[in-house]
Amino acid sequence: MTLLLATPTMNPAAWLRAFERLTPELDVRAWPDCGDPTDIRFIVAWETPPGFFSEFPRLACIASLGAGVDHLLGDPDLPRGVFVTRVIDPSITQQMSEYVILHVLRFSRHSQSFDQDTVEEIWRPRIPLQASDLTVGIMGLGQLGLDAAHKLMQLGFPVIGWRRTHKDVAGITTYVGAEALPDFLAECRVLICMLPLTPATQGLLDAETFRLLPRDAYVINVARGAHLVESDLMAALDRGHLAGACLDVFETEPLPAGHPLWHHPKVTITPHIASLTNPTDVVPQMAENYQRVMAGERPHHLVDIERGY
Ligand code: NDP
Repeated sequence: MTLLLATPTMNPAAWLRAFERLTPELDVRAWPDCGDPTDIRFIVAWETPPGFFSEFPRLACIASLGAGVDHLLGDPDLPRGVFVTRVIDPSITQQMSEYVILHVLRFSRHSQSFDQDTVEEIWRPRIPLQASDLTVGIMGLGQLGLDAAHKLMQLGFPVIGWRRTHKDVAGITTYVGAEALPDFLAECRVLICMLPLTPATQGLLDAETFRLLPRDAYVINVARGAHLVESDLMAALDRGHLAGACLDVFETEPLPAGHPLWHHPKVTITPHIASLTNPTDVVPQMAENYQRVMAGERPHHLVDIERGY
């Protein structure tokens, strides 16, 4: 019985080492050296091409190497009846909360303007925006969104959330479903997208969403590039409706040379690093899931394929 690492866009060496250290007895192979495809029961996958899994007739489980599964569920040939899992890990959650807090504070403390003043050698005091005046709206109160929400509240930011289903969370006014979206957006001085990419959430950060935000709102997208209509964001920034944006994910990654976002004075760009999966941290949960699946049990962190996350 064999586990395959299928990460065509990434070097699997660190993953191989982490499996070797933890489970030296396990037969772990790395694509493209798959050997006999009928050996493969469990695949740890990242950004595999469409149809990739059809080659493995005895596959029982596909484990996303990260928290998101859009790269798997977008495959029209994803085999039916196979478990799909994702990663839930405290280090991923912690990194994401750090990123979000950093950029909310950069906005409230005018850091982008001070960076520019530094380049131009201008001494120009600016009064910080008060945390208590900046309502932060989080789209997606899941593993990542909830942790960021609690940490932002500890810093004094009022936090509201938007999700698909109703669940009470102390201290967070929660808006549920598409009908509540306009009311939610109207309250957000900072909007953070932490949604999974699904047919329902694709393109949600568009002109209409930006129109519904208060003037001078700030937008942070750490979810997926396809949530955002980049041209609509630039239009909302250029007509002065939005104060700025921080983007970690893009329609095309890497962001192409010469793309207007690179040079937009109100945009902060990071190269999809808000939160990275550390093999040593998550290989134990993958090895456990492998054992569970081989024993005929359901794996942890199962994805609901119909729901899309
Ligand atoms: P979860 O599945 O734990 O949470 C998803 C949240 O989104 C839930 O609150 C869910 O609502 C809500 N949601 C889903 N669909 C809708 C909808 N149609 N309308 C309103 N709310 C919706 O995901 P995580 O928090 O673990 O991760 C979120 C995403 O972050 C990942 O899918 C991934 O794409 C991205 N990510 C980005 C990284 C980066 O480095 N940039 C790193 C890691 C993840 P409900 O609670 O009602 O189910």
